[in-house]
Amino acid sequence: MPLPTEPLKLDVLIIGCGIAGLTAAVACRLKGFNVKVLESSPEFAHVGAGLLISSNASRILCDFGLRDALDAVAIHMKRVIFLKHDDGTILSEQKYDGAEEKLGAPLWQIHRADLHDVLLGNARELGVEITMGAQVKSFDWDAPSALLEDGNVVKADVILAADGYRSRARAEMLGNFVEPHFSGNSAYRALIKRSEFVNDPKLAPLFDITNQTTYVWVGEGCHILAYPIRQGEYLNVVATQPAKHTKGPKYVVPIDPSEFLNHYAHWDPVLVAVLEKLPKENVLEWKLCDLEPMDSWLFPGGKIVLLGDASHAMLPSAAQGAGMGIEDGIAIAELLARAEKRSQIPLALKAFENLRLPRCTYIVNSGRENAKKWHKDDAKGGTVTDSMWDYDVKGAAQSISLEAA
Ligand SMILES: Cc1cc2nc3c(=O)[nH]c(=O)nc-3n(C[C@H](O)[C@H](O)[C@H](O)COP(=O)(O)OP(=O)(O)OC[C@H]3O[C@@H](n4cnc5c(N)ncnc54)[C@H](O)[C@@H]3O)c2cc1C
Repeated sequence: MPLPTEPLKLDVLIIGCGIAGLTAAVACRLKGFNVKVLESSPEFAHVGAGLLISSNASRILCDFGLRDALDAVAIHMKRVIFLKHDDGTILSEQKYDGAEEKLGAPLWQIHRADLHDVLLGNARELGVEITMGAQVKSFDWDAPSALLEDGNVVKADVILAADGYRSRARAEMLGNFVEPHFSGNSAYRALIKRSEFVNDPKLAPLFDITNQTTYVWVGEGCHILAYPIRQGEYLNVVATQPAKHTKGPKYVVPIDPSEFLNHYAHWDPVLVAVLEKLPKENVLEWKLCDLEPMDSWLFPGGKIVLLGDASHAMLPSAAQGAGMGIEDGIAIAELLARAEKRSQIPLALKAFENLRLPRCTYIVNSGRENAKKWHKDDAKGGTVTDSMWDYDVKGAAQSISLEAA
């Protein structure tokens, strides 16, 4: 009988310390690899706001042993109610009470910063080496290695480029920088403090965290979502409408809350009462973009691959951008762990692309479909992503063949 082979102790270099990069870091470290992460920001800013992390992704985080830490900051989504824009009539209601029993993992509403903090703490605990203020300029595709702006070179066995939707790595791979595809819309994003709502019984149900409900007002060309996050400390409000300040080169622009309120002043009075509580600061307009599906995410030579938004940025109406980054992280670790020698790294990366590209392309398209579906006066809601919450990416990565890649 052949002796069992020792698992390879690979040196994995990850570019970008967002949700995708961190998940890949934790998953690769758990496989026993040496993991380094290079992050261009000098420090982490608490960017972003509320995210839905559905069971396809939450099952991975639970598998990492992060269930309790995330339950402490997340809320379990129980219902989604679509409302008519002008008078708040209920158009449809979807219940997710038994979702966890059915899907095997929770549907979490969570602040991106809280999710990032938990993953970052876990990565550090496991011994992932994270360098801040390290901006990658270019790559040696064969070595492989990353050249930093400060002239340093970091070498590895494999490089995972998770450097976000305006990825420099993607530009190098394609030979030119291509801006993400602009949808024509933007998202106004704000967090409203719970204390703003005390003594207003009309608005109190919005903060019910035991029967957490996501309210979605839909109208012609616009929709607004509201749901509580951080154990009900804040109401997360996200509105999608034609872009105003982000039509040009700017991606995120602070706006005056009155602009947000005025845009929706003729909508349901309950919604207007919510928007009257918008904070004076930190109301942001985000340009909404996604990426046209790519033919490949692999650099020639097969030792560098794109991950997360860098390869498949999508519209928030998919509610899966972070989810797909999390799935990528576990998939790449599972596949790299199947390599028995370094020469098989290109096979593992190709298998990763074969597994992930069709799924992510489908989900990018679902984001576009949802946006169209919701932007009608009589929209009944519904999402084409519900059936995707059942997906087990770890199982899929374990069963795909490396040889056939
Ligand atoms: C309004 C809105 C709502 C959303 N709602 C949801 C939701 O409900 N559910 C969901 O799953 N997703 C949602 N998303 C999407 C989700 O936030 C993103 O898909 C996800 O955070 C992307 O993670 P990432 O790690 O791929 O990229 P990023 O978070 O962009 O991380 C990339 C990192 O790489 C670093 N970097 C960049 N260039 C370099 C370089 N040259 N060298 C070194 N480091 C570099 C950056 O500083 C950054 O830290 C939403 C997005 C928006 C805008």
